[in-house]
Amino acid sequence: MNITYDTIRGSRIVTAKDQGALILRTGTVYDGIGREASHDLDLLLDGGKIVQVAPRGSFDGKGLPVWDCSDKFVMPGLIEAHLHMSGMHTQEPYRRYFENNDVRLIRALGHAEELLAHGYTTVRELGAKGRGIGIREGIGKGLCRGPRILTSIEFLSPTGGHGDWPILPYDFVKETSMRSVLVDGPDQCVYAVRRLLREGADLVKIVTATGNMGQPYDNMKFRACFNLKEIRAMSDEAHEQGKKIAAHVVGDVGLRNALDGGIDTIEHCLFNFEKNPELLEKMLEKKVTLVPTLSIIKWFGEYEEKNGNQAAADRFYHNVEKHGEFVKAAWEAGVPIACGTDENGMHGTGRCPEEYVSLAKAGLPNYAILQGANSVAAKTLDLQDKTGSLEAGKSADILVLNKNPLEDISILRSKENIAYVVQGV
Ligand SMILES: [Zn+2]
Repeated sequence: MNITYDTIRGSRIVTAKDQGALILRTGTVYDGIGREASHDLDLLLDGGKIVQVAPRGSFDGKGLPVWDCSDKFVMPGLIEAHLHMSGMHTQEPYRRYFENNDVRLIRALGHAEELLAHGYTTVRELGAKGRGIGIREGIGKGLCRGPRILTSIEFLSPTGGHGDWPILPYDFVKETSMRSVLVDGPDQCVYAVRRLLREGADLVKIVTATGNMGQPYDNMKFRACFNLKEIRAMSDEAHEQGKKIAAHVVGDVGLRNALDGGIDTIEHCLFNFEKNPELLEKMLEKKVTLVPTLSIIKWFGEYEEKNGNQAAADRFYHNVEKHGEFVKAAWEAGVPIACGTDENGMHGTGRCPEEYVSLAKAGLPNYAILQGANSVAAKTLDLQDKTGSLEAGKSADILVLNKNPLEDISILRSKENIAYVVQGV
């Protein structure tokens, strides 16, 4: 059969529910869960969902059209667990927040399309004045194209914390929430969580420490944001409402507070592992998921290098390496790793697959990286019943590739290796 598709940013996007019932015939197929590929399975798709998965030929008696992908590599659509659809395109401290909002929205729409074209069928957008909720609703109404979006809408920071912008007058920053919502004390924290969930946030995002990720690794100093009572108040409220809470975590103090405060997903997690090895035990004990975002640290390094600050760039690159060693140790110890980059527009878009290459460089096997982009990420987003694996009942979020990422993970970086991106429901 000839499948129908739209071409978005050079990639073929198939809307599964518009195709009617069909058999997707595979040759090499990865289910998003295991360690190895399977072979010669047929996927029965209908209504934008995977109805059944069975050995080739199992559905032949049904008289359904066969979409033959037996010469391709078939896997679940990718999930990006940490990004910002900010529409920002510069690091400059003033220009990044003061551009016309409509222009930023248009750029963010392009970002959404770019993600879909790169095989991302689900992303988690973590605020910082991101356009996640507008685009999420726009996609739902058929006004624009992009992946399924989960968003925190904003992130929460205390006064003087990571989300404050002290180069500008406090009243202005507080009033406009230009970077984050500033809240202090458990009552304000709980109120802000309730407000955001009322506005339709899918999860809550906070910060537990602040500081430059390009500090010398041996002498890193990060300052805590929020005290334990505040963190606990926000976690309890999020959990009370059935939502997860993510935290921007840097430094041992930020990690310790996040773990004691009931945070579910630890974002970044750059700290001196050599000086604080016991924190890995604590991560296991608290059953948190790690989203290491090696990419953003590397991109900061590239930014410094481009601006001629080689010493600063080298510190970032060194920290990527040390962070990679920790991530490998965490993975070996059994901490779930979900792939996320912190892509935010300021370092370009379409770069999310670079995280896979960085994780491979850190020593994770390709299957673990694919799990981190599929089933582990789905669980991190509380979407394990909907996406992240090729199983009966799941959404038909499927990536059809010309090459095998289990053999070479870097092939995911190039859209040329993507034959089709299938979007389910
Ligand atoms: Zn982020």
